[in-house]
Amino acid sequence: MMKVIRDYIKSLFLLELIRGLALTGRYMFKKKFTVQYPEEKAPISPRFRGLHAQRRYASGEERCIACKLCEATCPALAITIEAEPRADGSRRTTRYDIDLFKCIFCGYCQESCPVDAIVETRVYEYHFENRQDAIITKEKLLALGDKYEQQLAADIAAQAKYR
Ligand code: SF4
Ligand code: SF4
Repeated sequence: MMKVIRDYIKSLFLLELIRGLALTGRYMFKKKFTVQYPEEKAPISPRFRGLHAQRRYASGEERCIACKLCEATCPALAITIEAEPRADGSRRTTRYDIDLFKCIFCGYCQESCPVDAIVETRVYEYHFENRQDAIITKEKLLALGDKYEQQLAADIAAQAKYR
């Protein structure tokens, strides 16, 4: 019975509405957290998992040794690798494709790679205009690696502290 009377008084004097407006009023003058994207960007973790890249050594030689661990570990079966031995006996990929429509950006490929070759960059702003563009080829991966190497090396060093 008391509850019914209390609820009646609350609704009569619009107490819930007044409490709601008071809360809105308090936040009106507080610091705003809205980011004006795309002019402003939110901070990104060194462990962010964006678009993939293939890295090279400082000599320019590609890191990937075609061991296929990333292909085996990928839960989405997004990676396709073909490999052949070179004339000097070293083993390198002749094809390394990632299907970005299949990829779930889990980061397992990066975790499994013994030579830090396949990595995920901080790049998240990209789009495709046809189905074929979703296949990111070895050439594109290496070009992305070359472009972002400085940031990638810094991010890998930062992540190593937490291992
Ligand atoms: S991030 Fe995950 S799903 Fe995507 S290619 Fe790597 S292992 Fe496969
Ligand atoms: S990217 Fe790494 S894990 Fe994948 S095949 Fe190359 S060396 Fe092996």
